[in-house]
Amino acid sequence: MIDLHSHLDLYPNALDILARVNNENHFTLAVTTSPRAWVATSQVFKGYNNIKVALGLHPEVADQKFNELDLLLTSIHNTDFVGEVGIDGSERYSKTLGKQELIFDSTIRECERAGGRIISIHSRGAASKILSIIRKYPNCGIQIMHWFSGSITELKEAVEMRCYFSVNSLMLKSKKGKDLVSRIPSELVLPESDGPFAILNGKPIMPWEAIDVCFDLSDIWNISCQEAKVKVMENFDALVKAGK
Ligand code: MN
Repeated sequence: MIDLHSHLDLYPNALDILARVNNENHFTLAVTTSPRAWVATSQVFKGYNNIKVALGLHPEVADQKFNELDLLLTSIHNTDFVGEVGIDGSERYSKTLGKQELIFDSTIRECERAGGRIISIHSRGAASKILSIIRKYPNCGIQIMHWFSGSITELKEAVEMRCYFSVNSLMLKSKKGKDLVSRIPSELVLPESDGPFAILNGKPIMPWEAIDVCFDLSDIWNISCQEAKVKVMENFDALVKAGK
């Protein structure tokens, strides 16, 4: 099956599960948290053709990794996938907000210069900021809002801009998450694990379990689980087509 947002390099036993991930998922987007991690991970994951390593600079480490910004911007030209990038507007990272915005803005601008990329975006507490930056660069590519937790108004705006949304089982455990996802047109929904950070029943969600979000989606969409799986696979095919 598929997983559109996995921190595959950060599982404690990453090397032991690579073969299984590559066999069970025909597409896993392994996002990274820094450009140097992208370089290293791309080497280690080489040969696992169903695993795509995305070039990232996580907003939570904007300060520590700021000196990798040049590497990020030049590397955008050598990858099809960018993530995890974005802005975290929560109190804890308020001191680095200026740097975060600078990194995200220049990343999206560079994606546009490169002809468009598929971009996995972190938008906690900053959805409006994210959307206004994306609007500045209309040819930056395809945006996938990962674990979206903004307001209903922000969600509507993102839907109007035809952003995709990667959703996981954990976010559907909360009433707010369920309510938000129920408002996303089904053709914009994709599965993600966000493992090993997303922990369900005491265990990190594995990339091959990302598709299990279809159990919850089938409830929301009022269709069978099998139909929900077909639906998200169609969405993925449309995303790949649009990305070409
Ligand atoms: Mn993540």
